[in-house]
Amino acid sequence: MKPVARGAGSERRREPLRSGKGLRQTPADKAGDRSVDLEAVTGSPLPGPIDSVAFARGRRELWGRIESERLGRVVEAGAATVDDVRWSAVGSIGRDAHDRLREFLTIRVEFTPILPCARCLAPVTLAPISAENRFRFAATEDQAAREDREATDCDVIAHDPALDLGALIEDEVLLSLPMLAAHDKCPDPL
Ligand SMILES: [Zn+2]
Repeated sequence: MKPVARGAGSERRREPLRSGKGLRQTPADKAGDRSVDLEAVTGSPLPGPIDSVAFARGRRELWGRIESERLGRVVEAGAATVDDVRWSAVGSIGRDAHDRLREFLTIRVEFTPILPCARCLAPVTLAPISAENRFRFAATEDQAAREDREATDCDVIAHDPALDLGALIEDEVLLSLPMLAAHDKCPDPL
């Protein structure tokens, strides 16, 4: 296992995570052996700052898994997960709507949420979630704000030489949590 970001030209299979359908067909242990033991490498279960444009231009990839108990904002939101949250971050180059070459970052997360039931407050295990968000980098905050209003297929954010990738991954988990959870039939209704 190679516990670091890989550069372009790798022959290994890309796309460490799959769509929702694929998620259920992929045995957990298969994903596990492709995970980065980031904590062993960096002392932290999530990646730290990255240079956003260098990450995209280098077509770098990182992936791993983390216990949701270690995601402070997810815990604050009252959420837990059945197993670890699986995440990936993939840099790429692509064209924007004006056919200009741009730098992109795709963040994916997969997890099975457990939320308190809105009726009885007992934990409800929900269907597995597979979420993805694509970011495009702009040279300045002004440009990012302007382009973000027009972009429909990605979020545009300013280039950051120390982009907090771990925070973006946690954001993605938070944003993909269902707003409301309830049992079909509460085990012990009030
Ligand atoms: Zn309930």
